[in-house]
Amino acid sequence: MQTPATAPTTTTIWKCYRCALTFNKEEIAATHFDIFKHPIDKIEKTSIHN
Ligand SMILES: [Zn+2]
Repeated sequence: MQTPATAPTTTTIWKCYRCALTFNKEEIAATHFDIFKHPIDKIEKTSIHN
């Protein structure tokens, strides 16, 4: 049985450089920003899973 080729997956994460934390949901990043007022960077990662 053959495994079908997988298209590249783009994962968006949010990172707080002050805390060195990463968030995989925008709402969590937004909550972090609300509480700590730390600038959050949005990062798009492309990964290919085989
Ligand atoms: Zn932070």
